[in-house]
Amino acid sequence: MIQLNFQSGITLNNGIQIPILGIGTYLANNGGEAKNAVLKALEVGYRHIDTAMMYHNETDIGAAIKESGIPREEIFLTSKLWNSDHGFNKSLDAFQASLDRLQVDYLDLYLIHWPVPDLRIDSWRALEKLYANGKCRTIGVSNYMQNHLEELLKACDIIPMVNQVEFSPYLYLHDLLHFCRNHDIQLESYSPLTKGRMLNDPALIAIAKKYGKTVAQILIRWVLQHEVVVIPKSSNADRIYENSDVFDFSISDNDMELLNSFHKGLHTSWDPSTAP
Ligand code: NDP
Repeated sequence: MIQLNFQSGITLNNGIQIPILGIGTYLANNGGEAKNAVLKALEVGYRHIDTAMMYHNETDIGAAIKESGIPREEIFLTSKLWNSDHGFNKSLDAFQASLDRLQVDYLDLYLIHWPVPDLRIDSWRALEKLYANGKCRTIGVSNYMQNHLEELLKACDIIPMVNQVEFSPYLYLHDLLHFCRNHDIQLESYSPLTKGRMLNDPALIAIAKKYGKTVAQILIRWVLQHEVVVIPKSSNADRIYENSDVFDFSISDNDMELLNSFHKGLHTSWDPSTAP
């Protein structure tokens, strides 16, 4: 396995690098929590931030980026098109509104948050236009299962660079991972910590003890060793650091297999296979 570090990136299908580890911000609210979390993350060394219109914290995140003093081009910033903003013109407007709230003039990655039936191809055309106009360096989708991707691949001019989906040992989407790999689409894992739900699993705790790491670190490292980008969320300074301290060990092949076997189809937010 290649040696990974905090600065490691994965090259997307258009040559742009995405940092392998980013900070998630869902439920980090706009009243200062998201701002403090992002400031802390940037201080610790994160250079990749995941937000969405739907998280209602873009203003806070923009403020944190400004206040950090870190040059904009050193930060990989993702936002997402919400379900009520689908359609060609509405998508363009929603993108601009996200830029305005974030106080930036481009995004590194803009994702369709959810495969909304009927309108998602029109929305993709809008993302292609934003990409062609240099408003976002990469474009992608989220919560797309294989059927959604097959539909898009038939219709698109630009193949999505990223598909962000829930991915953890408890939801090991092996077939989707390989489908994406075969089509040059990078998988990105959300809810890698199962939103905290499985952190007391004795089998997981046993593996963490063996490596002298925390259960959260094992879950993050498992994602990375599948060559999947990962965006654990924390608003707590200690845990923001803890979640980044995953580069001084590696999980053995046997233990990777063991973790793979934890799969039980656990969706902690929603199940995108319900979207026709
Ligand atoms: P995670 O799996 O990242 O878990 C976050 C929860 O775990 C929080 O309650 C956090 O609490 C806690 N936590 C964080 N670190 C630790 C730790 N080291 N030990 C114990 N508990 C910890 O869930 P998310 O659903 O937030 O997923 C991550 C990100 O992915 C989101 O924030 C968002 O950016 C994105 N996402 C995208 C979705 C999509 O549809 N595209 C859907 C869901 C998420 P605390 O903050 O107090 O540390």
